Amino acid sequence: MLLSICLSVSVQAALNCIVCDKTPLVGRYWKHPHGELCPDCYRIDTRCDVCQLPIKKDFIKTKDGRYICKFEKDDVVIDEELAKVIFKSAVSSVLYVSSQQMRLRGPYPDVRMFDIDYWNDNGSARMPGKMRRGGFSQTRSIGNRYTHNVILLSGLPKDELISVSAHEYTHLWINENRPESRNIETDTLEGICELVAYKVCERAGFTNQLSRIVKNPYTKGRILDALESSKRMGFADVLNWVKRGNGERLPYRGSAMTTRSVPRPTPTTRPSPPGPSRPNRPVNSARSTPPPAPNRATPARPTPTNSTDSGIRLTSIARTSRGFRAEINGVQFYQGDLKRISIQGRLANLQCIEVTGRSVMFSINRERPLKLELSR
Ligand SMILES: [Zn+2]
Ligand SMILES: [Zn+2]
Ligand SMILES: [Zn+2]
Repeated sequence: MLLSICLSVSVQAALNCIVCDKTPLVGRYWKHPHGELCPDCYRIDTRCDVCQLPIKKDFIKTKDGRYICKFEKDDVVIDEELAKVIFKSAVSSVLYVSSQQMRLRGPYPDVRMFDIDYWNDNGSARMPGKMRRGGFSQTRSIGNRYTHNVILLSGLPKDELISVSAHEYTHLWINENRPESRNIETDTLEGICELVAYKVCERAGFTNQLSRIVKNPYTKGRILDALESSKRMGFADVLNWVKRGNGERLPYRGSAMTTRSVPRPTPTTRPSPPGPSRPNRPVNSARSTPPPAPNRATPARPTPTNSTDSGIRLTSIARTSRGFRAEINGVQFYQGDLKRISIQGRLANLQCIEVTGRSVMFSINRERPLKLELSR
């Protein structure tokens, strides 16, 4: 997430630097998806590990020296017990999307959280364009008994941790189910792990994770083959291919064109507007009862009202030269904006996913998307 120059033509009232609160911002300032910053703050080298925002105050630091800014500090997971809960909810979602096909025979994995991302070769900084691993898994087998271990990196946002958990769990399932005589290309295995993560994030409505997964260079594009094969053969038969298939690569080749459901990045400083974000339900759900989706806080189905029980209120939608602008709890949002708002006296991050003339789709602290409509 790079910062880029923006020149203001006039003094914009109430525009303040989101890092140092200096106001008003005039002349040259910088844009970041969270808001605008002053030149002084832009020069700060210490950056947020999640969003690259310069760090000045109101941040947290992980034990291995990574900084998380005020916008993400409530979203990231640094508590091992919470990580275990999130891993567990990711597993139940994997079982759901696979119609229980991916149940492990071995005992439930031992899940640990690590501060030092020692398995990454790019050090502790998140390098732009370089993808680090957020997790690690291994299976030991003694005879036909298995033990599974998973390590999750601390300081990942909740939605990314769910994605990483689903990925690592899939490795364990592959370890149990791929015949020893069967050779599968390593990148294809990674692509299949990402396919499962994709399914889980799709179900939860994490559209930003979908685009992250598809663009992740880690699979060398094999995620696209996995998505294409899943579309043509069905997800269940991709899993069967691991157990009983032929060849080292999946039978179908995907291209970036096939991933229509993924939001396209736009060359602006604002986050790209994600596509339709209503959580998708898998079609093969006949046999299984849906477990709770990875996030608990919000109802699955958008409700056609202008406020939620939890104190989020949509007061107006304006048509502007930049597109529709919604006002939620007194704060103005364009599509793609991520800002801090106060909800019943507590601060939370609201990401505005989509604004239309009548409704707004958003997510609070990266939880499942919600929709509000203007009352008539
Ligand atoms: Zn500043
Ligand atoms: Zn940040
Ligand atoms: Zn992997």
